[in-house]
Amino acid sequence: MTHKTEKLLFELSTPGARAIDLPASDVPTTELDPALCTFTETGLPEIGQLQLVRHYTHLSHRNFSVDDNFYPLGSCTMKYNPKVNEWAASLDGFANLHPMQPDADTQGALALLYHLRVFLAEIAGLDEVSLQPCAGAHGEWTALKVIRAYFHDHNQPKRKIVLAPDTAHGTNPASCAMCGANVVTIKSRPDGLTDLDDLRAHLSDEVAAVMVTNPNTVGKFDAHIADMADLIHDAGAFLYLDGANMNAILGITRPGDFGADIMHFNTHKTFSTPHGCGGPGAGPIAMRKQLAPYLPVPQVIKTGDSYSLDYNRPKSIGRVRSFHGQFNVLVRAYAYIAACGAAGLRNVSETAILCANYLAQRIKHAYALPFGPPDGQPMAAAPCAHEFITVPQTILDRGVTIMDIAKTLIDRGYHPPTVHFPIHDCLMIEPTETESKAVLDDFADTMLELAELSQRDTAPFKAAPVNQPVRRLDEVAAARKPILTWTPGDKT
Ligand SMILES: *Cc1c(COP(=O)(O)O)cnc(C)c1O
Repeated sequence: MTHKTEKLLFELSTPGARAIDLPASDVPTTELDPALCTFTETGLPEIGQLQLVRHYTHLSHRNFSVDDNFYPLGSCTMKYNPKVNEWAASLDGFANLHPMQPDADTQGALALLYHLRVFLAEIAGLDEVSLQPCAGAHGEWTALKVIRAYFHDHNQPKRKIVLAPDTAHGTNPASCAMCGANVVTIKSRPDGLTDLDDLRAHLSDEVAAVMVTNPNTVGKFDAHIADMADLIHDAGAFLYLDGANMNAILGITRPGDFGADIMHFNTHKTFSTPHGCGGPGAGPIAMRKQLAPYLPVPQVIKTGDSYSLDYNRPKSIGRVRSFHGQFNVLVRAYAYIAACGAAGLRNVSETAILCANYLAQRIKHAYALPFGPPDGQPMAAAPCAHEFITVPQTILDRGVTIMDIAKTLIDRGYHPPTVHFPIHDCLMIEPTETESKAVLDDFADTMLELAELSQRDTAPFKAAPVNQPVRRLDEVAAARKPILTWTPGDKT
């Protein structure tokens, strides 16, 4: 598709144009007191309906979404969002509810929140859940506040250190910093798992928690997690599980069973609520009983047959979100979990793992797997979880960079995998369970074709992307010096 520059609505504005015609007034007109009508020119654009529809339709064509194409963005679990979730979230009784309505009028919504709590506690293997946080990072922050409140309440205020492995997601240290905790990095071993000796060396009576992602960000399930939990508990600290990778363990194992004390979910990853570019999301947290008194208010509770919002929690850290969290996202998560059922959830994870291992197996002769099986051995010798990491050194040695591969994939219709995380010069590929074998095969064929192309000619990699609205952008300038205003005469 060719893309032409899309003008701003302000540039498209034609004086007098209207998107809708209002019916003629059927009540008598009266003069308003001139003192009340100090109209100022708003300068809002005036646009006809068709032009308005075309403008937004053009912009929507520039979106890349799972509904459009394969989106193997590692760690982000870009799975298909079943449309039945949208149906549930747009039901009149949910979508048009007012957050200030009394509990008695909102029993259905409260029942849904309560049962979602029960579902998530069961999936986590933990005792209580707060649905308030509205993103994974927000869940981390809330959980760290809960841990801090616990230690204050137990006269251990000097526990201010949080340990996290060097493969941790950037939000882990960021959440710690936002909570005033000092983050100390724990080394990973060459096989990608946490170095238990290094962990042991860093544990002390100043450590509040250890943040762990399992399966970790290199796509490996750390089977030492229970030993790690013992070490952490012996030191009087909590094991925090970053639950972003729950898509690999649903119904197979539970964080509470392998020693986690508190965790967050990313409903927008694991439970198929839509996400992209930072929102919207929901990051519920689950925890053991001993941490529950500190969780945010309000908490949805059930008394007899009725549901209500409980604010009477004297040790609560308080509110972390207006009203009841990201309600419509929580409706989608509930719909997804209820539709899957227990067996269905386990099937989700088993299929996600199978897809990742199949894809890795198909491309690994051209895309080396630093944490995979030794050369020549099948994936079964050292399987990955729901995602895998490649460092395609032979391709890099030909002068093609990771970014070149990513940009070339965009022209082939694929969203690039995650790049340079959690290690430099890597691609992190997460196919998810919702893709067919045909899609995985097409993607593998494309990856292998690119590996082959890099042997003959690197120029096409350097030019990519060529068929997108924009070519390569200065991403740092876009983030640090964004141009957010427009005045007539500016170039769009
Ligand atoms: C996505 C992710 C997060 C942060 O979650 P958000 O919902 O994007 O805030 C944290 N840790 C890991 C490993 C992730 O993949």
